[in-house]
Amino acid sequence: MIVDLRSDTVTKPTQGMLNAMFNAKVGDDVFGEDETVNSLEEKAASIFGMEAGIFCPSGTMTNQIAIKCFTKPMDELIADQTAHVYRYEGGGIAFNSAVSTRLLNGDRGILSADMIAPEINAENVHYPNTSLVVLENTVNRGGGSCYKLSQIEPIARLCQEKGLKLHLDGARIFNALVTTGDKAIDYGKYFDGISVCLSKGLGAPVGSVFLADKETIKYARRVRKVFGGGMRQAGFLAAAGIFALEHHVNRLKDDHNHAQLLATELKKYNWVKSVMPVETNIIVFETIQSATNIVDKFANYGIKALSTGSNTVRFVLHMDITADQIDHTIKSLKLI
Ligand SMILES: *Cc1c(COP(=O)(O)O)cnc(C)c1O
Repeated sequence: MIVDLRSDTVTKPTQGMLNAMFNAKVGDDVFGEDETVNSLEEKAASIFGMEAGIFCPSGTMTNQIAIKCFTKPMDELIADQTAHVYRYEGGGIAFNSAVSTRLLNGDRGILSADMIAPEINAENVHYPNTSLVVLENTVNRGGGSCYKLSQIEPIARLCQEKGLKLHLDGARIFNALVTTGDKAIDYGKYFDGISVCLSKGLGAPVGSVFLADKETIKYARRVRKVFGGGMRQAGFLAAAGIFALEHHVNRLKDDHNHAQLLATELKKYNWVKSVMPVETNIIVFETIQSATNIVDKFANYGIKALSTGSNTVRFVLHMDITADQIDHTIKSLKLI
């Protein structure tokens, strides 16, 4: 048995999703004529209380478009030091937007208004102009830690007072919503931009949407074209996204339950030094031996995991992990 816990990006489309893709009505989306893409963009925007959306090939692209829309060259953005936009987007902040990055030390990636306020540069020719704050929810490197909306509200107020834009890297926003019980519709009140991945926990094969006001999305279409992300009959992919939004949100709680089960098991073993608090579908744990050593041992039992540091290993739960696979994993942990 193979149990692939490396990432929630490894899922394959279900039969229902494939049927939806196969039956999609499509057109040339660069001409704005793909009705399935248009309806995905409208649907995602309305879920989050935003005016408009744009469908893109990846979450990296939606984040990079957001940064391009919300900054000018020579500006600075503020993000946590674990932020995906900084660590895992290939230096795109500097390359695409000519913007510098001020990194903060959040609590497992979670920032507060008090942490951000002193890092906003005063008006002075020496200092880059701080124009954007990027939050991530859930925080990937925080072990799937999440913000409650009540924690976001003071940050949004600060950004408004200081004239900064606020962008959400919501690659796993639905995982956060399932845990916090906050409502997606309320997010639109606080963020200028929201990026949502359809190909993580929601199980679509490709795609992310960037949500914002109409003006910003109009400009984002120009930026997407420049980045090479203007797709043609993309409705076949958008159909998978619509299917995911309609059928795969409520089931995320199963992934979270599986994560809790595995975390409880991991804590029993002396080769595990510590397990980060598990809030959603990600488990990050510290090992006594080197992480690559442990990952190799897992592989002997068909369990695929990622080492995320010299002594840290990550499991990510997702919709292709069955109860049987969880049983197999629990049995295998005993043999490590
Ligand atoms: C996966 C991910 C993204 C986007 O990644 P793509 O692979 O480009 O779709 C963005 N932010 C976070 C936190 C992620 O985990």
